[in-house]
Amino acid sequence: MATYSHSKICCFEQCPLKYKFQYIDKIKTDIEQTVEAFLGSMVHETLEKLYTDLKFQKVMSLDELLEFYNDLWQKNWNDAIVIVKKGYEKENYRRMGEKFITDYYNHYYPFNQGKVLGLETTEFVDLNDEYKFHVRIDRLNEADEGVYEVHDYKTGGYLPEQAAVDEDKQLAMYSLWVLRTFGNVKKVKLIWHYLAFDKELVSERTNDQIMDLRRETIQRIKKIEAAKEFPPNVSRLCDWCQFRPICPQFKHLYKIEDMKPEEYLEDDGVKLVNKYAEMQEKIKDLSEELEKVRERLIEFAKKEDVDVVFGSDIKASVSSYESFSFPSKNQRKEFNEIVKKIGLWDELAVVDTYELAKKIKNKELHEELIKILEKFIEKKKTDMIRISRSMNNNNNC
Ligand code: SF4
Repeated sequence: MATYSHSKICCFEQCPLKYKFQYIDKIKTDIEQTVEAFLGSMVHETLEKLYTDLKFQKVMSLDELLEFYNDLWQKNWNDAIVIVKKGYEKENYRRMGEKFITDYYNHYYPFNQGKVLGLETTEFVDLNDEYKFHVRIDRLNEADEGVYEVHDYKTGGYLPEQAAVDEDKQLAMYSLWVLRTFGNVKKVKLIWHYLAFDKELVSERTNDQIMDLRRETIQRIKKIEAAKEFPPNVSRLCDWCQFRPICPQFKHLYKIEDMKPEEYLEDDGVKLVNKYAEMQEKIKDLSEELEKVRERLIEFAKKEDVDVVFGSDIKASVSSYESFSFPSKNQRKEFNEIVKKIGLWDELAVVDTYELAKKIKNKELHEELIKILEKFIEKKKTDMIRISRSMNNNNNC
């Protein structure tokens, strides 16, 4: 049975190439963790310790808990941890963690809100005969007889709206496991602790919603399993991706980043892209100039009442012809109907192959339809260059 987790499915949806690096090729990189992930894991372990001790009837003091957190931080910190955001240091993040834990402690002390049934669970729930889903609940509580709570700690700096947590799939899937595991379930409350804001967000799902989500999750998994190509998807999340040094979208940047300016300017890639951009700029300027000369030439021919204007050993013929303009593509409904009515449609209408290609590429057509059309379609790779400003390049050359 194949196992999927929320993060595994999201990884594919965020960037198929990242998914391939992480879950298919299982590549280990030098960049093992970002500071945000490290902070999250230190805070999670600290809160786990707090609740583990409670099971043994030991209520840690805030000082003890912070000491535990700081010890953990010191022991686990390593130089491969990356700080992406400019202007902040390791110490800023460590203190953030202290603040999260202090606020949480003061908010929930003496931690008697229900019975703790599980911490950082490693359970699985079957989705069907083929797939199972990893259930990792930060803390599972029974608040009242049959009222279960799935608690999740968030250490990020973003507080979502209620509507977003009402749509959340991760904890909602965990409630499927709760429903199947415990016999007396009256209610499953999903509770997110946004530690940076000292705020709780709470949501619930109906049984029907959970069953729909199970089906939807199976479909999302099937899409992953059917994937034959794993293209990169550049987004702001790339800043936190550990595969940047091997990703074709950033590999060259990594190669040149540490070069001295003189080495850097000798890099073939740097030279070529600079040349290409410079020439493109020149072509743009020249085209604008050409258009101006063209307009002046036409004006000249009209003013002089001539059809041909002579240069040194060349001549320009200036002529005008009648052209027609038709309704734009979006406003052709009525026009198309008339063309059909007067019997010209079969003779004149052509398939919009640009739109068709777009539909095939975006997987908007049913596979059966694509199969029928396949013998008429030749697939080829077209190379393309697009020039844009790079914000990552510190070498201001
Ligand atoms: S850097 Fe961005 S595009 Fe490249 S693998 Fe990572 S997430 Fe995907």
